[in-house]
Amino acid sequence: MGTLSVSQLKLQKRLRRLTGEAVADFNMIEDGDKVMVCLSGGKDSYTLLDVLLHLQKVAPIQFSIVAVNMDQKQPGFPEEVLPAYLKSLGVEYHIVEKDTYSVVKELVPEGKTTCSLCSRLRRGTLYTFADEIGATKMALGHHRDDIVETFFLNMFFNGTLKAMPPKLRSDDGRNVVIRPLAYCNEKDIQAYSDLQQFPIIPCNLCGSQENLQRQVVKDMLQEWERKNPGRTESIFRSLQHVNPSQLADRNLFDFASLKIDETATPRFVNLLNL
Ligand code: SF4
Repeated sequence: MGTLSVSQLKLQKRLRRLTGEAVADFNMIEDGDKVMVCLSGGKDSYTLLDVLLHLQKVAPIQFSIVAVNMDQKQPGFPEEVLPAYLKSLGVEYHIVEKDTYSVVKELVPEGKTTCSLCSRLRRGTLYTFADEIGATKMALGHHRDDIVETFFLNMFFNGTLKAMPPKLRSDDGRNVVIRPLAYCNEKDIQAYSDLQQFPIIPCNLCGSQENLQRQVVKDMLQEWERKNPGRTESIFRSLQHVNPSQLADRNLFDFASLKIDETATPRFVNLLNL
């Protein structure tokens, strides 16, 4: 990549700043951490690694970075692409080989989307690997738009109000997952990836289509954003300002014991008396 224009520099700065903010806000990386950066070969994870390598240089704390890619044995997977890129960066890396492709093909009926099982198998393998290499954090490339999409998917199809947290401990407590790009939007990441000319490996080598419902939600959000710029950011901000007493979850807020406070001064009467 040659010299960056002013707008390209701004883009790079914005991604770095927002990542730094998310890392600090959620205490994602601490002194002495070994951060395993999961690389899929897509724009998001390349951007994540690029920004974290910069953060590592400028942060007041010391932490190490190990890049990990999983070769799931999809037909046509270009296995030389990531090692060549990672070698050129001089970053420590591992390629974990596991044929989850065959498992998925065997278990998922023809014509059904395989991404959900495929991702679960990948996640499980990466959890185990992180444990093996003593990684204290596992960084994933999900960004703000992924988080908001997941929020709506859960609302529309599962009847739950939940998204993808910027930081998460696995159920067995052995891994902490972090999403340092949580404050970054996909458009910026796409532009940065194009700018850096990352050697993208498509995730549909297996022939599966991206989850159709996710695509529908993505289109819905893009349409909203087109008509009302800033709406996605506003939705994301709402995830950071949750008010359980204004929702209807009886486990989060004790509605049952709400009673009149006999000692309270009647506010409206006071206002009228002013
Ligand atoms: S597109 Fe293929 S490789 Fe990518 S997540 Fe879906 S099933 Fe897995």
